[in-house]
Amino acid sequence: MSVTVVGSIAFDGVSTPYDRRDRLPGGAAFHFAQAASFFTDVRVVGPVGDDYGDDHMALLATRGTNVDDVDRVAGGKTFFWKGHYHEDLNTRDTLTTELGVFETFEPELSDAAAASDVLFLANIVPAIQRKVRAQSSARWSALDSMNLWIDIARADLVAAIGDVDCLILNDEELAQLTDQRTTYAAARAIFAWEKAPSAIIAKQGSYGAQLFTADGGGFTVPVFPLESVVDPTGAGDSFAGGVVGYVAARLAADPSLTVDRDVLATALVYGTATASHNVEAFGAEKLYELPTSAIEERVARLAQLTRFDDVPVALRG
Ligand code: AMP
Repeated sequence: MSVTVVGSIAFDGVSTPYDRRDRLPGGAAFHFAQAASFFTDVRVVGPVGDDYGDDHMALLATRGTNVDDVDRVAGGKTFFWKGHYHEDLNTRDTLTTELGVFETFEPELSDAAAASDVLFLANIVPAIQRKVRAQSSARWSALDSMNLWIDIARADLVAAIGDVDCLILNDEELAQLTDQRTTYAAARAIFAWEKAPSAIIAKQGSYGAQLFTADGGGFTVPVFPLESVVDPTGAGDSFAGGVVGYVAARLAADPSLTVDRDVLATALVYGTATASHNVEAFGAEKLYELPTSAIEERVARLAQLTRFDDVPVALRG
């Protein structure tokens, strides 16, 4: 099995200035799996309540995602998150977070989950991310987090980041974590930690994403140009799913591969193309039936839009 993801499986209530949905299948691990499953085999680890129906489980299992390690807790309630987006659809307020079965979640990886080549620690309590990382024999791992954990569990989060190969975080969160004003300075500050990842990916919302590698490499990808965005929920997780899923597919094809700047740069383009589809409908609805070719088309378009070698640049003489 190539990617194991540990994180929230949820119901989301989402409203924008234009439309709303009261109860959609969501959660960080759910959005990640929808995206990563275009590229590789995915196994999801996380708890749900007995309000999580077989129909929801079937959606989680889209494109063959393995749900054997999803624990349906008898008498428990599935994690519920409710958010409202502002006019720009870039900023949102969290209105409700009901942890439900996550309150007592103590992950024990199955043998199959522990043996995955790649591990993604979606946004959960950093101490739990560390416990999961310690149980896994993954060759390559990445982690996401959020401002809440920088506020209340910073030391655990710093330790968890030191345990993985790649940190994926919003640029505001990188600034908050390091007290630095630019994303580049924040990345340099993290690379200077005693234990640091070898790559950092800054998610920049509607501005795209940036990669920094500890050896001084970097890459920038713009956001895919869209006529309209319906629901940005899960954009970060589906971006991460595309990035990590692509890396896992490359590692599955070539076990001796080094996940370097070039591999990650391509992964950023795949993550961007995948997330661009996710935001065009509520929840992950657009991804359920999407053909992989629709992602490939946007990868090709991004390559075309960012080509530089055919643009006359005066300084080149
Ligand atoms: P994103 O839009 O990529 O930041 O991810 C939104 C998803 O994260 C939603 O589907 C939520 O269910 C989930 N989520 C929101 N808050 C939390 C939290 N505190 N812990 C875990 N997952 C969360």
